[in-house]
Amino acid sequence: MPELPEVETIRKYLNKTILRKRIVNIKVFSKKQFPNNSEEIVGAKILSVKRRAKNLIIELSNEKTLLIHLKLSGQLLWRPKTLNKTTRIVIVFDKGELVFNDLRKFGWIKILNLDQLDLELKKFGPEPFSKDFSIKYLQKVFKKSIRPVKTILLDQEKIAGIGNIYANEALSEAEISPQKPVKALTIEEIKKLRKAILLVLRQGIKYNGASAADKLYLKPDSSNGSYQQHFRIYQKNGEKCKKCNTIIERINLGGRGTFFCPKCQNMSRFRYI
Ligand SMILES: [Zn+2]
Repeated sequence: MPELPEVETIRKYLNKTILRKRIVNIKVFSKKQFPNNSEEIVGAKILSVKRRAKNLIIELSNEKTLLIHLKLSGQLLWRPKTLNKTTRIVIVFDKGELVFNDLRKFGWIKILNLDQLDLELKKFGPEPFSKDFSIKYLQKVFKKSIRPVKTILLDQEKIAGIGNIYANEALSEAEISPQKPVKALTIEEIKKLRKAILLVLRQGIKYNGASAADKLYLKPDSSNGSYQQHFRIYQKNGEKCKKCNTIIERINLGGRGTFFCPKCQNMSRFRYI
């Protein structure tokens, strides 16, 4: 699933590409993924492209917005060479087309007015790059829960934008067991974790996101991101930890692939808590 760095990469690209363009038509091939009446936005111009959590927000000139969630396998491609059998929606501009492909069909594009948008977005926790994402905030959230730290990192109501790749990467960077009950983190570990989250997200953005083994994430120009070349731990089970040479392991935690170094991330100490 595209996470903060992938969605931010798409946002930056679109904010350069579709700004001030006018929507002239919308072709919908999968109605459940575009539930509103496209006539509401035909003729509107693009004012800005923003991001909140893993959502893209396209502000239009008629006081409507497009809220887009790519979910598991959504792609937004600018003028791809061809459409394919996963093409679900095409937004046609006065010049160029934005194509929404989605193999799994969980993604969506909604037309919202500003009140509806506020309502949709208020459920998310703080953005990692905002001042609200403080040590104090994390202490407050963590002390209330005995859930594994990795599960909390994925909870969009607690912290916005982190998904499975960057949760794995941040815990590796911070040398914290993904299974450690979040309440048991020391203040030093919380500080380390916050710093690690910001570091891996910045790296993800710097390398234009990660096109992992499933190859589902593409930049809008149809090319791959390159953060996967810099993975510390994600999908590296069976390989050696770069810090200590121990073989990286994989477990399922809350149904998600979880990768860790049993030595650096001290898994055994917390396995039975
Ligand atoms: Zn290690």
